[in-house]
Amino acid sequence: MQFIEALKLRSKLLFLFILITLGLISVGIMGTSYINAMKKNIDSLYFGSLVPVTELDDILQTYHNELAATIYKASRQEISPQESIARLQRGLKVIEKRWKSYASHYKSADEIDYVHYTGFEIQKTNRYFQRVLKAIQNGKDLQNISIATLEKRVEFVHQVLQKLIRYEVNIANYERKKFLQNYNSMLFEIGVILSIIIIGILAILYYVFKSIQADQTKLELATKKLKIANKKLENASYTDSLTGLHNRRYFNFIYERELKRAKRNHTYITFMMIDIDFFKQYNDTYGHVEGDFALKSVAKVLKDTLKRPSDYVFRLGGEEFGVLLSDTDETHSARLAREICDAVRARELKHEKSSVCEFVTISIGVVCCVADEALNDEILISRADEMLYAAKESGRDRYIITTNVCEATTKSVEEIFIA
Ligand code: GH3
Ligand code: MG
Ligand code: MG
Repeated sequence: MQFIEALKLRSKLLFLFILITLGLISVGIMGTSYINAMKKNIDSLYFGSLVPVTELDDILQTYHNELAATIYKASRQEISPQESIARLQRGLKVIEKRWKSYASHYKSADEIDYVHYTGFEIQKTNRYFQRVLKAIQNGKDLQNISIATLEKRVEFVHQVLQKLIRYEVNIANYERKKFLQNYNSMLFEIGVILSIIIIGILAILYYVFKSIQADQTKLELATKKLKIANKKLENASYTDSLTGLHNRRYFNFIYERELKRAKRNHTYITFMMIDIDFFKQYNDTYGHVEGDFALKSVAKVLKDTLKRPSDYVFRLGGEEFGVLLSDTDETHSARLAREICDAVRARELKHEKSSVCEFVTISIGVVCCVADEALNDEILISRADEMLYAAKESGRDRYIITTNVCEATTKSVEEIFIA
């Protein structure tokens, strides 16, 4: 059965199809051959025994009812000589015909001698009736005919024929018995052979189905693994390996999607551009490993502060981070920006080269507006960048927020809130 497992799914199905077809063909052939054998049996029973018995019986009846009866009647002058002649001729013809037919059937070696003997006695009896026939034809009077001789002759041929009939009946009984036995054993044989074929086919079918099922399970498992691998790959391609935040590639995708959604629904959208203050000096002072640690710390603060499912935090590159918020008005956005600044400072990562604080700090440029169709796709980024620059310029460790998203605008004091 190993070869079944080695087959491909399509070949397995083809194999199943061929198997079922062959099974049906073999059952068909078997059925036909048994029906033929049965027909042969019925034929031999019918033509080998029953028909001969009928023929012999016909001969016997003709001797009694046609020939002997005609002579009785003729001797008593109850029928005319012409009628007697016609009846005798007809009777003799029938006997000859029946005997010829009977003699032409197959005869076993056991009975052949007795059949010849019976034939001989029939000829003898017929010759007797032909003599009587001739006498009538010659106008002889049948009143003087010896009825005793007639009865003796007919009785004798009767006994000879009866014996043959008994023999044929015995054969018929024997054939019938044999046929019934054959029939029963044939039924048994058919039952056994069909059961073997069916059980064999079912066993192979079971194997093939099992194998297909196993293939299916393997396929499902492989698909599942592939899906997980794809997901991992997708995540990896969208994740920053150092901080675990979403990367720039994912930002491009999400930014476009969220902006479209906000434009469609006319809802608030907030973008924050975050940059660590004097980070070059930090690296120079504490080394890159510590620098990386500081980056991870800032990332953690961002993650911990922005917990809503719709809040997105990205590492856009180097020591720059981006935050994208939906449905958040300027007051709420400003509060969050302040919280982020405070939380980073509160981590107290020593930064002795910073001229604004003894710890690591960040600056944030925030832009917040209600989106509409007229909103330029790039404006949020450029305005956030401008606000970040302004935050740096005005002393760092702070955020500046604007709600003005008009292009080529000059920053007005009212729009800018300094932390
Ligand atoms: P500013 O306050 O004006 O932002 O000053 P800054 O020193 O932070 O300015 P700048 O953008 O010139 O410096 C960015 C530095 O960030 C340069 C580089 O040494 C550091 N940096 C960028 N990417 C990484 C990183 O993946 N790991 C580490 N440790 N440092 C990085
Ligand atoms: Mg920078
Ligand atoms: Mg910096």
